[in-house]
Amino acid sequence: MSASLIATVAVAAPLEKSLSYRVPEALRSSVQVGVRVRVPLGRRTAVGYLLALDEGDPDGLKDIAEVLDRDPLFTPELSAFYLRAAAYYLYPPGEAIRTALPSGLSGRDSDITILNESFYHPLEKQGVPSGGRQKEILACIREQGEVALSALRERFPSPYAPLARLCELGFIGEQEREKIRDPFLSAPLPPDTCVDLTGDQQAAVESLVSALASKSFTPFLLHGVTGSGKTEVYLRAIAQAMNLGRRALVLVPEIALTPQLVARFRARFGGGGTTIAVLHSGLSDGERYDAWRAIARGEVQVVIGARSALFAPVPELGVIVVDEEHEASYKQGEGFRYHARDLALMRGQMVGATVVLGSATPAVTTHQRALSGQIGYLRLAGRVTERSLPKVELVDMRGEQGVGALSQPLTEALEANLLRGEQSLILLNRRGFSPYLLCSDCGHTFRCPNCEITLTYHQRPRQLRCHYCDFQVTPPELCPRCQGDHLLPEGTGTERLEEELTALLPQARIARMDRDTMGRKGAHGQLVSQMEAGAVDVLIGTQMVAKGLDFPGVTLVGVIQADSTLNFPDFRSAERTFSLLTQVAGRAGRGERPGRVLIQTYSPEHYALECAARHDYGDFYDQEIVFRQELGYPPFGYLVNLVLAGNDAGKVSASAQNLADALMEQSPDVDVLGPAPCPLARLRGKTRIQILLKSAERPSLRRLLLALPALKKTVVAGVSLAVDVDPMDML
Ligand code: ADP
Ligand code: ZN
Repeated sequence: MSASLIATVAVAAPLEKSLSYRVPEALRSSVQVGVRVRVPLGRRTAVGYLLALDEGDPDGLKDIAEVLDRDPLFTPELSAFYLRAAAYYLYPPGEAIRTALPSGLSGRDSDITILNESFYHPLEKQGVPSGGRQKEILACIREQGEVALSALRERFPSPYAPLARLCELGFIGEQEREKIRDPFLSAPLPPDTCVDLTGDQQAAVESLVSALASKSFTPFLLHGVTGSGKTEVYLRAIAQAMNLGRRALVLVPEIALTPQLVARFRARFGGGGTTIAVLHSGLSDGERYDAWRAIARGEVQVVIGARSALFAPVPELGVIVVDEEHEASYKQGEGFRYHARDLALMRGQMVGATVVLGSATPAVTTHQRALSGQIGYLRLAGRVTERSLPKVELVDMRGEQGVGALSQPLTEALEANLLRGEQSLILLNRRGFSPYLLCSDCGHTFRCPNCEITLTYHQRPRQLRCHYCDFQVTPPELCPRCQGDHLLPEGTGTERLEEELTALLPQARIARMDRDTMGRKGAHGQLVSQMEAGAVDVLIGTQMVAKGLDFPGVTLVGVIQADSTLNFPDFRSAERTFSLLTQVAGRAGRGERPGRVLIQTYSPEHYALECAARHDYGDFYDQEIVFRQELGYPPFGYLVNLVLAGNDAGKVSASAQNLADALMEQSPDVDVLGPAPCPLARLRGKTRIQILLKSAERPSLRRLLLALPALKKTVVAGVSLAVDVDPMDML
C-alpha cells in the first residue's frame, strides 16, 4: 500500500463535511488548491472545490474525475475563511463556496469563455520603422507604455499588419492577457477634488493609518451624518493601504445605486497605476469570471462591490470598508444566509486587516460594540461644510382631512419649492398604484393564490401583482364575490402618488424611481443624470431614493406614511424606520441652499420619528437599547431562526412541533420560542412555520446548533428546514 496524493474537496451538494478523493496520476500536474474539480458522488458526479492536498492512504477513496480550472479561484487562506463562514451559518461548505464564487461557475458549465486581449509594449530597440502607419502606431505605444489592441483599433483603422511588422522588427512586444471589460470603468474619468481634512477626519485617518501599520486586525465604526466626510476618510485609508503594498475591498449596499461613490473612487485612484474592479450585477458571467481571476492574480488594488464581493480573492488585504454598514441588504435572505458586515469582521480577523464600518445611523449592535470598546469608535461630528442639517417637521396625519396622500403642509411646500425652481424628493416606500383593490359593496379584496398576501394593484399595465412571488393577474371588471362594479383602489403607492402629483402640479417635471420604473438597464443612471442636470422638479420613489445619492439641488424632502415600516412584525422595525428617515432627510439641503423635510405620520410621538426629526442618533440609541435589553434581543441576546416549509400544512406543523420538542429537551438554557406561523405564513404555495432560538450567550446556542443535524430526523420528507443565524428579519 503506497501513499498517494489525497485531495480534500468541498462538494457542491448538501453535505455537512468535505470529502476526500484520490488524485489519479494523470491529474497530478493540474491539481492545486482553489480549482474546481469534478468528482464522483454516489451514482452521479458533482462539482467540488479543492481545499487541500496531502499525501495519504488512498484506500477506499474514489478518484477525482476531472480538473475544471487552469488557475485557482481562491487561495488556501480564503478556503479557510469560506469554511469558517459556512460553519458559522451552518451551511454546507461546498454550497457556501458555490455561493461565494462568481455566478456562472456552478453546475456543469466549465466552459467559461475567457476573453483574451493582446497588449503591446515598446522594446529597447531605438529608431523608427519606415512605414508611415507603423511610425504612428509605434509613437502611440511608446507614449503610453502599454496599449491594448482594442484601444489601437479605435485610433487606427486596421492596425494588424503594421503591428505584426513592428513585432517582427523588434520595436514592440506583444502579450496576451485576459481582459476585464467593465461598463462602470469605461466612462470618462471624473475630476478628483483635493481637500484639506477637517479635525475629525484627520483624527479618524490617523487612527486608521496606525491600525494599518500594525498589520493586525483592527475594526472601527466610522460614525458620521451624511456629508460628514466619511467617503474621504475611506479614500485616505485606502491610499495608505496601497502605500504599504496592500489592497482594499469596499462593500456598498447595492452597487447599481451608488454610481456617485464609484465615480469618486475612480476619480481618486483611477488615474495612476491603480486598477479598480467593480463587481456588479451588470457584468456577464464571463466578465465576472475574468475580473475574479485578475483579482486572484493580484492585478487589482481596489475591489468595489455589493455583499458577495466580500468573498473576492484579494491577496494581501489591508483594509475592508463596509459603507452604510447598517443596511439590511448586506444580509443574504436565502440559501447561504450570511451577513457581509459580520463576515467582513471575520475575514479581517483572519488576515489581519483594518475594517471600517461606516454609517450615519449605525446598527444598534454595532454602536453598542463601539461604545463598549469591542471595536474602535471614530466620530465625525458634523457636516464638513458650514451647512446645517435640514429642519425636519413631523406632520400629524391624524388631523388631516385631505383627499389624497399629500397633506396640506407638504402640498404647499412642494408648490413653493417649484416656484423657486428648486428640486424636491418624495419617499413613499410602497410601489404600485395602491396596496389593494377593494370591493366597496362587499369588502372583497384579492389575495395571492400562492402567498398569504394581498395583491398590489398596478395601473400601467393594469394588473394585480404579488410582490413576493411575482404572481400576476388582470383584475376583473366586476367583483367575483358580489358581482358589483365598485372595485376601487385603496391606499397609495408610488404610481398613484405620481398621478396625484401630476394633477396637483401640472407644470412640474415629475419622475419616479422604484423597481417598476428602474427595470430597464441604465434607467437608474439616466434618471440620476437628469436629477443632477436639474431636468426633474420632483422625484418620487421608494427607499431607492434614500440610498447613496447626493443631489445638491434638492431642498425639500417629503415622506409619506413614515409609519409603514414601524408596523412591521420585527424587533428591528424602529431601527429601520429611524435609519431610513434619517437617511432620506439627509438628502435635503446638501447644496448651497438650506433644506427642509416634512414627514407625514400617524405616530409622531414614537421615539424613532421624534429622534429622526431632531437628527439625534444618541437619543434614539439610548431608548432603543433599553427595549432590546428588556426583551433580550441583540446585542443582549443571540438569535437563530429555524423556518420549516412545505406544501403539506399538516406535515410542516407536525415536524415543527417535533423539532421544537427535541430542541427544548436538548438545551434548557436556550429559549425555544414557537413553533409559530411565520408572519408570511404562506409563501409561493408553501406553508411556513418558525422556531426562534434565543439565548443570552452564544456558546450555549452554538452547542444546541451542533446538535441540530441529529435532530433533523424529526423533520419529515417534503418539509424543508432553513437555518438563519443572526436573522435580520423574521418574515
Ligand atoms: P459622507 O461620505 O459622510 O456622506 P463625503 O465624504 O461624501 O461624506 O463628503 C461630503 C462632501 O464634502 C463631498 O462633496 C466631499 O467631496 C466634501 N468633503 C469631504 N471632506 C472634505 C473636506 N475636508 N473639506 C472640504 N470638502 C470635503
Ligand atoms: Zn405570491
